[in-house]
Amino acid sequence: MANNWNRREIVKAGVAAGIGTFGVPASAPAVIRSRSMLRPVVVSSGNGLQACAKAMEMVQSGVDTLDAVIAGVNIVELDPDDMSVGYGGLPNEEGVVQLDSSVMHGPSRRAGGVGAIEGVKTPSKVAKLVAFRTDHVLLVGEGATRFARAHGFGAQELLTDRSREVWLRWKENLSDRDDWLSPEQAGEVSTAGFESFVRHYGTINCNVVDAEGNISGVTTTSGLAFKIPGRCGDSPIIGAGLYVDNEVGACGSTGRGEANLVECASFLVVELMRNGAHPKDAALAALQRIAGKTAPRLLTDGGRPNFNLRFYCLNKAGEYAGASMYGDLQGRTARFVVNDGGDSRHEDCAALFDAMS
Ligand code: ASP
Repeated sequence: MANNWNRREIVKAGVAAGIGTFGVPASAPAVIRSRSMLRPVVVSSGNGLQACAKAMEMVQSGVDTLDAVIAGVNIVELDPDDMSVGYGGLPNEEGVVQLDSSVMHGPSRRAGGVGAIEGVKTPSKVAKLVAFRTDHVLLVGEGATRFARAHGFGAQELLTDRSREVWLRWKENLSDRDDWLSPEQAGEVSTAGFESFVRHYGTINCNVVDAEGNISGVTTTSGLAFKIPGRCGDSPIIGAGLYVDNEVGACGSTGRGEANLVECASFLVVELMRNGAHPKDAALAALQRIAGKTAPRLLTDGGRPNFNLRFYCLNKAGEYAGASMYGDLQGRTARFVVNDGGDSRHEDCAALFDAMS
């Protein structure tokens, strides 16, 4: 009780003193209070065409925003051909698939995440259970896996033949001073086609605002391929890989989680939107912050980050954006998915830099 009293007093004192995030008085209303356009909008990373369509269909039929985005990303989590998420995701350095996910439900302000969970194809569903069926926000590793088992998620093999083969090629090519021989080293067949998976990021983030202005989001991933066992990226961390404020908007991310984790950038994007920035400007400002704080060892010769990072965001008014550190990477244009009532479509991300240099 004493703690609660103290917290209330501190908040009251802060409001009285006019202290708030980024110098804005804490008592100031969020800039975006009502929606001029009561049209639901869903945004996601570029791999979310079907996810956005599913989420849109569900919110249009009155389903809760969080259930809608989770159902959307479940399609990708269960797709064995998407090697960045759920079933078929690329494993850690020991060949074990460990998944990260978080969810945030605007109307109830509940949030949940799981990190390095094993043997569950749909970690987003477990993240929702953490949010609604525990008094915690984040469960990781063995504890997260056991929690999923307690809720009836049977142990599932997440490695597919293809993802196992990619991991094996990576392991065989790590060093010529161990006993693992690749087919080329053994004088056998070429491994053409596997090179692009040597180091691989990939994730789906999906956010929605419905016709009532309720907002939710989810992020789910197998994380960085061949990571050290137990590594969690930004995806399960509220404020980094995902952040939702029902009064303002939502933001989630894909790309180098370590760069996002140290800036809590999804939180930053939502705070900038709270202060009136358009989603696109908010996301570009967050990317600028990250680029400006990147350690020298992660900079290109041209002084730019040697990694990519992307944000997908929307506000309560239904304005949205995708923004990428790079507009073009290895000849591929940065795109995100939006659905505002018709078919899902790709749009180009706003970019902080055109290309790596
Ligand atoms: N952000 C994810 C992570 O760092 C990976 C990704 O989005 O590609 O785990």
